[in-house]
Amino acid sequence: MRDGFGREINYMRLSVTSRCNLRCRYCMPEPSPQGRPGEELGDGELLAICAQAVKLGITRFKLTGGEPLLRPGLAELAAQLKALEGVEEVTLTTNGVLLAEQLDGLCRAGLDGVNVSLDALDPQLYQAITGRPGAAAKAMPALLAECVRRGLRTKVNAVLLEENLCQVAELALLGRELPVDVRFIQLMPIGWGAKVQGVPPERALAILKERWPDLHPVQERRGNGPASYFATEGLRGRVGLIAALSRRFCAQCNRVRLTSTGGFKPCLCYRERYELGLLLRGGAPGEALGQAMAQAILQKPWGHCFEKADAVTEALTMDQIGG
Ligand code: SAM
Ligand code: SF4
Repeated sequence: MRDGFGREINYMRLSVTSRCNLRCRYCMPEPSPQGRPGEELGDGELLAICAQAVKLGITRFKLTGGEPLLRPGLAELAAQLKALEGVEEVTLTTNGVLLAEQLDGLCRAGLDGVNVSLDALDPQLYQAITGRPGAAAKAMPALLAECVRRGLRTKVNAVLLEENLCQVAELALLGRELPVDVRFIQLMPIGWGAKVQGVPPERALAILKERWPDLHPVQERRGNGPASYFATEGLRGRVGLIAALSRRFCAQCNRVRLTSTGGFKPCLCYRERYELGLLLRGGAPGEALGQAMAQAILQKPWGHCFEKADAVTEALTMDQIGG
């Protein structure tokens, strides 16, 4: 359906857990307070919400978190989601640490694509950013190759920080042998991210242009995200920039979010959410969920206010919301 500004809303990011096995310093440097046991939506509840979302025209779903691969039975959930009538696409965003062992099940489930978050290939830097052993970074190139071999649309996401600017070209080179898009994301001042200094994507672009002078913008939509893409003869994949603050992409926004406890969020930046989990558990019929989602979509704000950090009203951290 269209929101109050005429934007087509067809994409929902589902946080399937707020737990994580990394401690990225801009996202979840210490564990977030957990909800009460059982507060996170079960598979049936999540699927009931998605079934109503499909009726509103939301046909593309991203499994995220926290770290989605920590949710027991994720592949089974993905398969059931994929089997819902009207669902066109189910993709995953993950830190990749547990991906190799779950890849078989996810591919069998019909997963359409995977975004692997990787801020550094250098093991020491990886450890400094994620708080976890750098060996995981070393395993990433082979993991990405395996994702591609299995036919998954594969992307890499790196959040831009002062300390990983030295890795920008190295990360982009992941797209030299493999058709993998590497996207550089501007840090958003949300949750812990508000306490960390980000770096404008133009600085990454300057590094990339120095390395590949023929780098040029391409007008391509590759997936559901707001990245602008660049191509060079030197790379099979595209390089993407997600300029969350410096270039407003709200005019093309097509997304809504569901927190792991069932909070339906029309915009990342503001605290407004519709508690679909509570509605469900209070015995509300499916149509009531659909009506609440439709109302939230109609009230989706025009744009974020990340450039004025004190106007951001969302107090949850990124892992709690679902990034
Ligand atoms: N754990 C999974 C992962 O890391 O891909 C999924 C959840 S994580 C919150 C999703 C994405 O959000 C990651 O690429 C992460 O780097 C990004 N992210 C987290 N906090 C952010 C922030 N404040 N600004 C921009 N991106 C952020
Ligand atoms: Fe975990 Fe992803 Fe946040 Fe890193 S970015 S702490 S991997 S949820």
